[in-house]
Amino acid sequence: MKLNEILLKDDVTLSFEVFPPKVTANYEAVKEAAYGVAKLKPSYMSVTYGAGGSTRGNTLKIAKGIQDTYGVTTIAHLTCVGATKEGIRQAVMDMKEAGIENVLALRGDRPKDFEGEPFTDYHYASELAADIREFGGMCIGGACYPEGHVESENTHQDILNLKKKVDAGCEFLTTQMFFDNNIFYNFLCRVREAGIDVPVIPGIMPITRPAQLQNAVKLSGCNVPMRFRSIVDCFSDNPEAMQQAGIIYATDQIIDLIANGVKHVHVYSMNKPEVVKGIQESLSKII
Ligand SMILES: Cc1cc2nc3c(=O)[nH]c(=O)nc-3n(C[C@H](O)[C@H](O)[C@H](O)COP(=O)(O)OP(=O)(O)OC[C@H]3O[C@@H](n4cnc5c(N)ncnc54)[C@H](O)[C@@H]3O)c2cc1C
Repeated sequence: MKLNEILLKDDVTLSFEVFPPKVTANYEAVKEAAYGVAKLKPSYMSVTYGAGGSTRGNTLKIAKGIQDTYGVTTIAHLTCVGATKEGIRQAVMDMKEAGIENVLALRGDRPKDFEGEPFTDYHYASELAADIREFGGMCIGGACYPEGHVESENTHQDILNLKKKVDAGCEFLTTQMFFDNNIFYNFLCRVREAGIDVPVIPGIMPITRPAQLQNAVKLSGCNVPMRFRSIVDCFSDNPEAMQQAGIIYATDQIIDLIANGVKHVHVYSMNKPEVVKGIQESLSKII
């Protein structure tokens, strides 16, 4: 099913992201984790794409497996860094053949071991979205950054660039993680002011290990409110307590979003069915 049809319905949706294995040796373990999430019947799931296409085949295999085995709609991520136009055409054809109807069109980042110029056929995700739109038959989404993308000059310019991406064909946007909902509400106002009217789906990351938070901050530069920092500091030596606190903090963010009229929430579940279950159970009377 196309995501824009799911997002048009009146129901609140809760969706989850999984990532495929980088090496084939881990395939079965990752598949089991991803299927463990799918068994919990989320509204839909997204499957990430490894840097520079390193997980290409596995992204598709996992996404197809989730759809075929559990009937859960999936979005396959696709990046254009280091890609050729022909490679992208083939990747989209493979998605269609696998029955995948939704794609998150991303630029991606220069892979660590990439030699040469990684942005030749494509420079920005908007160019990728435009090509996929031209091929036809896919519902296309894009990424957005409530605190600004790390490379952007300022958040205003970033939103102007985001508008180009939507004009190029993105029918929904999923945000990078944030830990303070006011940042999302403020972003949403500015996005609407800029004339972007597609659904903007907040991405929530349950932090279950202190190292996960350090990585998130390093990669995205996202703000960590004092309230959350104290929680992580307090429970960092107790993995079970940290996991529980992380699930509760993420659930609290989701409840606040729903209470403020947000209908669709995406969770970065990091291949952890137990985290998905914890969140779903805490929301069982709400969603
Ligand atoms: C929801 C989500 C899912 C993700 N999934 C993956 C994944 O599966 N695999 C992966 O490798 N990475 C993933 N990423 C990370 C993403 O690839 C990086 O954040 C990357 O740095 C930017 O990708 P983008 O698609 O947002 O790029 P773009 O939209 O191209 O933006 C990149 C930068 O270029 C600027 N820009 C855009 N258009 C223009 C223009 N016309 N002129 C000048 N500047 C411009 C933007 O302001 C921004 O600073 C994901 C990120 C998010 C938020």
